[in-house]
Amino acid sequence: MRTCYACSNEATTGEHVPPKCLFPEMKDTPGGTDLRRNLFTVPSCDEHNTHKSGDDEYLAVVLAINLPANHVAQLQVSSKIARAVARRPKLAASMMGRVEPVLIADDRTLELYEASQVELDGLRFERTLRLLSLGIYFQHFDRRWDGSLRVLPEFIAFPYEQNSAEIANAVATVAICSEILFKDTPHIGANPSVFFYQIHEGEDSATCVLRLTFYEGCKVTVYFGIND
Ligand SMILES: [Zn+2]
Repeated sequence: MRTCYACSNEATTGEHVPPKCLFPEMKDTPGGTDLRRNLFTVPSCDEHNTHKSGDDEYLAVVLAINLPANHVAQLQVSSKIARAVARRPKLAASMMGRVEPVLIADDRTLELYEASQVELDGLRFERTLRLLSLGIYFQHFDRRWDGSLRVLPEFIAFPYEQNSAEIANAVATVAICSEILFKDTPHIGANPSVFFYQIHEGEDSATCVLRLTFYEGCKVTVYFGIND
C-alpha cells in the first residue's frame, strides 16, 4: 500500500507540490514558454489533497500578489487569477480580509509608492504551507516526515499584532540566517522562475532546514525537528 505524504492513510490520488495552479499555463506565457515542466507529485489521501480543499488556490493568490514576487507572478494575476475572479466575484471577497492602502519604500531608490496591504487568513496560509513542506520533504527523501516542523514565511508582515516590531525583527533575522545557510546550496526545481527549493540536512537525520522560493522573491524557511 502506498501511503499519503502527510499521514499514514492509504494514498488515493497524486498531489502536486507546489500546487499546479502556481505554474502559469502555456497559453498565458509570452511566446508559449512551458513553465509546467517536470512538476513534483507525491501520493496523497483525500484529506491532504489541497486541491480538494481550495487551499491551493488561496496559496496561489497570496503568493502572486506579494510585492517581492516576480513578473511570472504578475502574469498569473493578470491572466489566471483575473479569470477566476471574473467567474466567481465572491472568490476575491472571500479570500481577502481587510484591504488597506500602504506606502512602501523601494529598496534601491527609496522612492515611496502606493500598494495594498491585505489581511491574511494566517491559519489557512500556515496549514497550506505546512502541507506543502511535508510534500517537498516526501519528494526529496521518499519518506514521510512525522516529527515537528515550523514554517516561517519571510515576506509576511504582522502589522496588527501587539508585538509587530518584535515579530518583524525575528523574521528579518531568519531571512538573514537563511541567506547565509543556503548561499551555496543547489536550487531544485525545473521551473525556477515559479518555484525551487533548497535543503540543508542536519548532522543527524532528525533535523533539516528547507527553503522554498516562490516567484523568485517570496521565501519561506521551514525547520524540521524543532519544536514550536
Ligand atoms: Zn493524508
